[in-house]
Formats: sequence, C-alpha cells, structure tokens
Amino acid sequence: MLATATIHKLPVLPYGLNALEPQISEETMQYHYGKHHQTYVDNLNKLIPGTKFENASLEEIIASASGPIFNNAAQVWNHTFFFFTLSPNPKPVPTGALSEAINRDFGSFDKFKEEFTKTAAGLFGSGWSWLVKDKRGKLNIIAESNAGNPLREGLKPLMTVDVWEHSYYIDYRNRRADYLKAIWSRIDWRIIEERFR
Ligand code: MN
Repeated sequence: MLATATIHKLPVLPYGLNALEPQISEETMQYHYGKHHQTYVDNLNKLIPGTKFENASLEEIIASASGPIFNNAAQVWNHTFFFFTLSPNPKPVPTGALSEAINRDFGSFDKFKEEFTKTAAGLFGSGWSWLVKDKRGKLNIIAESNAGNPLREGLKPLMTVDVWEHSYYIDYRNRRADYLKAIWSRIDWRIIEERFR
C-alpha cells in the first residue's frame, strides 16, 4: 500500500475578506490569508512527505518538530487561530467565567487590554502576543517570537494577535501601535469564552 501524507488545507474563513474593514482591509486579507497563510500550508505539504510527521496532526507536529517543519506548521495553526478570533460582529467584552478570571488575574478588562497591548507593542521583530491559560487555570500574557506557539509549553492558547509586519503594514505602515489599538474592535470574546471552557 502506498503511504499517503495527510494534506493540510487552508481553512475556509467564516467571513468575507472585506468583512473586517475598516480595521483590517480586504487587501491585507488578500495577502495575509490568501498568500502568507496559504504559503505556510503549501510549504508544510511539501516538507512532510517521507518524514515521521506525514500523518501527524498540526498539534502533534507543533509539539515535537523543529526547524522548517515546526515553523510552517505553527504558522498554519497560529494564523487559523488568529483569523478565527476575529469577526465582523464581535462580542466586544468578555462576560461570565472568563470575565471573572480576567478580573482576578489582571485587575480589570481594561488593565488586561493595556498589558496585552504593551506586550504586543514591545515584542522585538516578528511574533505573536498570546492570552493563555495554564494547567491551574491562571491566565497569563506571553510573547512568542517568529512562529512560537504556547502549546509547546503546555499552555492553552485563548487568543492571539499577529504582530508580524505583514499583518499591518498595508493598512498601518510602520505604526504597530495603531494596528493594536484598532484590532480590539474585531476580537470576538464569544469565541474566546468558548476556548476558555
Ligand atoms: Mn501573519
């Protein structure tokens, strides 16, 4: 029997490429989702045949791969997670158990946003800012360089913001702070509440 590698696919987004305007333009989505995200998927599919990751899930690859296979698999996962955190009709603030956990661990939702933005703005070079939950249920904000993913450290990702320049350069040029300010109004806390459960 011929061994056939799993073919990873670009996920279909639950909204149109212009649906996040004006905070994220259709042109940004054409490049960010249509080209960058697609390229990570294509690269991964080229890299895994003949390796032990042929039939592994993305999460399994992220847990133990290194080098280009890790980088492309994590970038596929991170972008899918990021794009599915955004919505044309987001729930603007968390409620219930997640809201209580945010208040407990950061003081208030505003303080959480402030700290998250500071972490994302201060990340040197390319990477991702994450809200994560540890094994004991405590929330934390962490920065990961390049394709970094908190699953590697046994943390549960709840939300992320992409701070690679390709995520904001078309709309905001070099002004990462303006992008970080605008993106809050596209983050859907309904989705993050689901992940928190
Ligand atoms: Mn990106």
